[in-house]
Amino acid sequence: PGPPGAELRLAVLGARGVGKSALIVRFLTKRFIGDYEPNTGSLYSRLVRLDGEQVAVHIQDTPGCLQEDCVQALDALSRCMKWAEGFLVVYSITDPGSYQAVRPLHQHIRQLHPDARIPIVVVGNKADLLHARQVQAKEGLQLANELGSLFLEISTSESSQGVCEVFQYLCREVSKLQHA
Ligand code: GDP
Ligand code: MG
Repeated sequence: PGPPGAELRLAVLGARGVGKSALIVRFLTKRFIGDYEPNTGSLYSRLVRLDGEQVAVHIQDTPGCLQEDCVQALDALSRCMKWAEGFLVVYSITDPGSYQAVRPLHQHIRQLHPDARIPIVVVGNKADLLHARQVQAKEGLQLANELGSLFLEISTSESSQGVCEVFQYLCREVSKLQHA
């Protein structure tokens, strides 16, 4: 058993409808549930085994708003960004607008966390919807490379594997930073 009280804080960001809530629930339950209340900002907390250690992982789900007229939402988002130690920035491969939203979100995180080691993963979700693809994998990769982030395309609806890999990676990186 690891040190008692090991905790880490993650946030999932991205435009509306990209699958943030589905992704978090997939990680925590290994199941895909199709419908979630939109625009919620629930906090999920769960004990997770990480390299043989019990760690309390807190995951903040966020509503997809990053519009300037939405001052309150922006304020809440900033607080959430300050609170978190690791980030998932999600877009949908079927939604170019959600891809465009990645860079400003990433920059906002970087502003609040000047420590370049803070882990941020860029995720292209809904990779099962190949017929509706509008963002190519290489565009996702290019953007992530430019931002200095890890990149992964996943399908939350098809499989737990990619989702779990992303969260495992984030947990590990945050844990490393905490021990650094
Ligand atoms: P959020 O607004 O980012 O939290 O998005 P939701 O988690 O509410 O998901 C939005 C919609 O996309 C829902 O209808 C989900 O069932 C659907 N969805 C989420 N992930 C996937 C995926 O990997 N593939 C497909 N086909 N649909 C998905
Ligand atoms: Mg949601």
